[in-house]
Amino acid sequence: MPNFPIAVLPGDGIGPDVVAEGLKVLRAVEAKLTGVTFSTKEFSVGAGEFLKSGDPLPPDTFAQIAEHSTILLGAMGIPNVRWPDGREMAPQIDIREKLDLYCGLRPIVLYHPDDTPIKGKTVIDFALVRESTEGLFVSRLDPYSLDADQVTDRLRITRAGAERVIRSAFRIAALRRKKVTLVDKANVLPTMAYFRSIFDQIAAEFPEISTERVYVDACALYLVQRPESFDVMVTENMFGDILSDLAAALVGGMGMAPSADIGDEHAVFQPSHGSAPDIAGKGIANPVATILSVALMLDWLDHPETRRGGDMIRAAVSKVFADRTARTSDMGGTLSTTAMGDRVVAAL
Ligand code: ATP
Repeated sequence: MPNFPIAVLPGDGIGPDVVAEGLKVLRAVEAKLTGVTFSTKEFSVGAGEFLKSGDPLPPDTFAQIAEHSTILLGAMGIPNVRWPDGREMAPQIDIREKLDLYCGLRPIVLYHPDDTPIKGKTVIDFALVRESTEGLFVSRLDPYSLDADQVTDRLRITRAGAERVIRSAFRIAALRRKKVTLVDKANVLPTMAYFRSIFDQIAAEFPEISTERVYVDACALYLVQRPESFDVMVTENMFGDILSDLAAALVGGMGMAPSADIGDEHAVFQPSHGSAPDIAGKGIANPVATILSVALMLDWLDHPETRRGGDMIRAAVSKVFADRTARTSDMGGTLSTTAMGDRVVAAL
């Protein structure tokens, strides 16, 4: 009987609350699946861990996490707990880079027409693929001085880095509606013209997939005007960072946006949102993004039973959301974090 070990990193702020609901749903699904089990081991990582040990991601903890191919993460960061130069502690980004998790998959699905701020839209169902190891994030750890006359960031695209993430996007599209949209700024930036030329080469390997190329600024417009036209989108790290928040807003906000950061050996599943310090400790965070991240995790484990489990979770969320009153406060409802988790479990 296959057992899937999962490293669990609840983190800071609302992270532990939403992860608890994700695990509650995982256990409820496990009880319904045949012949698969999940064993979880929790690790302390994040700004809270820094306050305890002086390191948000102690090397020994990272080594133990890296022994797991499957990682479920909550959120990281506490306001004012920062490095001396003012930058936020971001062990979740460190993990992404150390484990080479290049494919940032962010599925965006509208579960009820009332939850989109765009009038008249009933179907929104696309997946944003964000390159997650290079792009404009490469200089994030560069030293800098606020007193300098200038500070420069670098945007790096490597051929290998672009090829692997673009290929992932095409493979994902092959399982969906068979369309990939490249989002770039090829009319202005040399790196983006390069990214586009690599996209064109990879596209030739997938003749059954249709393609579209849009500039990132136009993409922001189209996401609001015609979100239903997108299937899979692939883009650079920072563009993906920004567009994934816009995309989340289309389907009810950050509490509805799951994510998977996938590499060749490991994958991290986490809600797209951060630690939401403004609502931490209040018991009102929306756990659905985490619950849907658990569904993505079950897809990725790629066993017929875990895949069935992923579909069961999405169907349960859909069932809960059919009742317009079943919402947490970020979406205009009154359900607490645990009450929403309980509703999803009941719907299973
Ligand atoms: P990061 O930089 O890590 O993305 P952030 O501080 O920019 O984090 P979030 O923590 O994602 O942003 O929070 C942005 C806003 O969305 C906040 O007002 C927060 O309360 C709200 N929010 C985020 N996640 C949730 C959630 N699961 N449920 C309810 N509200 C949320």
